[in-house]
Amino acid sequence: MRTITKCLNVKSTRAPEFVDITELVGAAVGESEVDSGIAVVFSRHTTAAIKINENEPLLIKDMEHFLSTLAPQDSYYGHNDFTIRTVHMHEDECPNGHAHCQHLTLGNSEMIPIVDGELALGNWQRVFLVELDIPKNREVLVQVMGE
Ligand code: ZN
Repeated sequence: MRTITKCLNVKSTRAPEFVDITELVGAAVGESEVDSGIAVVFSRHTTAAIKINENEPLLIKDMEHFLSTLAPQDSYYGHNDFTIRTVHMHEDECPNGHAHCQHLTLGNSEMIPIVDGELALGNWQRVFLVELDIPKNREVLVQVMGE
């Protein structure tokens, strides 16, 4: 069995935003030359998630709206209260309590079977990086294990 890890750099432009990274993940799997195994797609962030869902424009809007209602940006979050917060404060800290709470419901990774050298996704399944914070450069690890 071999393990190959590749880092994808993904740029988001707004939030929430569903960035379809299926082709990038598929290319990483192709480069790995693994025929049979699994690919783990992992976001290295606490406010950008990885999720499999359908890429249909109206549904994307629905899901963005759903996330915004789940944890609205204008609610109170202690994480955003810089008058009391002392932990993990840095120069470009932005108020993103809503993004962390939305992230809880989505998670950091998806695991996808590789069959005959390709992602064995269903007909309507696409892999998304879900940006929940502000436009940022994000790192997504694709770790391919198999033979
Ligand atoms: Zn934060």
